Amino acid sequence: MKGWLKIVGLGPGDENLVTPQVLDALSKASDVIGYYPYIARVAEYPSLRLHSSDNRAELDRAKHALQLALEGNKVVVVSSGDPGVFAMAAAIFEAIEKGPENWRKIEINVLPGITAMLAAAARVGAPLGHDFCTINLSDNLKPWEIIEKRLRLAAEADFAMAFYNPSSKSRPKGFEKALRILNAVCKETTPVIFARAVSSSQENINVVPLTQATPQMADMRTIVIVGSSQTRIIQRPDRSPFVYTPRFLSP
Ligand code: SAH
Repeated sequence: MKGWLKIVGLGPGDENLVTPQVLDALSKASDVIGYYPYIARVAEYPSLRLHSSDNRAELDRAKHALQLALEGNKVVVVSSGDPGVFAMAAAIFEAIEKGPENWRKIEINVLPGITAMLAAAARVGAPLGHDFCTINLSDNLKPWEIIEKRLRLAAEADFAMAFYNPSSKSRPKGFEKALRILNAVCKETTPVIFARAVSSSQENINVVPLTQATPQMADMRTIVIVGSSQTRIIQRPDRSPFVYTPRFLSP
């Protein structure tokens, strides 16, 4: 079978943060499929067919990609960041599990990328230097009650936390509720990092204590990192502070 499918991560935005492996896959592709802002990041060349679609169309996009690969095309599906983190790789496997038997014969590779959480953490220091967890705050694909439960238990377990999809126009209240839960469990000085459009020309990073964090500080281009009780801030003259979580846990 000459067709193949590669599910790749384009990283957080900066073209220097795309891996050579992903660039190589794109250079060999006949078809690139993805959400239109991500397709816009792919360099065009005459023989390359670009298929962009809307954000919510993940499963249709996955089926389209699998069908094109089965027909012998060299297909790259693009996600931002890493394709395995709240992105297209899982959508493709969901389609394969329920789809026709011949989709299982397609050569498929997942090529990792730098996920938003890691790019954001690196910009401020090392807030994820000790145990941490990641929660997608969107209730599009799971009930809000589960999000609240995970949030509360993760805060009680004193993990540092990274929140993907903290807020959007269609979900204006979720992040406000999340902040209420955090304020009830975590200490007041817990550093909260709002990292917007990390590594792009619109990057904006804001570090505030939990009590000063407001719902308006996050939108759909923001990743939010909340420190644990051990997360520390190192102030520096005329430079932005470092935020880090030590590797050890003081008793
Ligand atoms: N697969 C992606 C995540 C997709 S979910 C990854 O690995 O990064 C989309 C969410 O990711 C956004 O709502 C935001 O929370 C986060 N995100 C993606 N790119 C970002 C960036 N450059 N800066 C800050 N957050 C980003």
